[in-house]
Amino acid sequence: MRNLILLAAPAAGKGTLSENLREKYGYVSISTGDLLRNAVANGHELGPKIHEMQMSGALVTNEIVYQLLEDRINESDCKNGYILDGFPRNIEQAEEYDKLIKEMNKDLGIAILLDIEKEELKVRTVGRRTCKDCGSIHNIYKEALLPKKEGICNKCGGELIQRSDDTEEMLEIRYQTYLDKTKPLIDYYNEKGILYTVDSGKTPAYTLEQVEAILNGLGDSVDNN
Ligand code: AMP
Repeated sequence: MRNLILLAAPAAGKGTLSENLREKYGYVSISTGDLLRNAVANGHELGPKIHEMQMSGALVTNEIVYQLLEDRINESDCKNGYILDGFPRNIEQAEEYDKLIKEMNKDLGIAILLDIEKEELKVRTVGRRTCKDCGSIHNIYKEALLPKKEGICNKCGGELIQRSDDTEEMLEIRYQTYLDKTKPLIDYYNEKGILYTVDSGKTPAYTLEQVEAILNGLGDSVDNN
């Protein structure tokens, strides 16, 4: 399977798309946000520092992210391709990742930009509820992602929580970080000829459909029925 890099503003739907690709095609999804949150939860020596940086809406120091990412990519389930959800977040990370991929003899794959209006991001951020156990994403304002039982995960029955950075104030800060640091990656991957854009402002199913069409167009036979 082709490696995918997802580029998107906060709450644009990276997590939901990754989850859908994982469920339907067995894609391995690597969320650096989750790797960092897990590192904090599991008592990583830099846990307090990571948590503080995440809670400030800024990006976590590159070196910390590289180490966690490299360890994860080296796990055996990533052998046949994976989705990067939330990495790279700036040009420096993209350049470092190019080097890493070369060293590991892997293919860069393609970058997919999830295009969305800022207003829609607000609804998604404030309404998002994440399963504490399986990470599955729900939204109390979205029909397609509504928890069937309040506070309970539709997939595994785990407890749904609101991430502490999923507030309107935090969205403003994280969105600005996206504009300053991550948006330049659109040109970076466009110049490499591997950038594809999908409309991520409608339903999760429509986002998935567009990605399937891209993969099919590239000769990866994914079934989009
Ligand atoms: P996410 O779950 O992708 O929305 O990320 C949540 C937070 O984790 C971000 O606001 C950053 O503080 C941090 N983070 C996630 N991915 C990265 C990355 N590639 N580089 C630096 N910080 C990151």
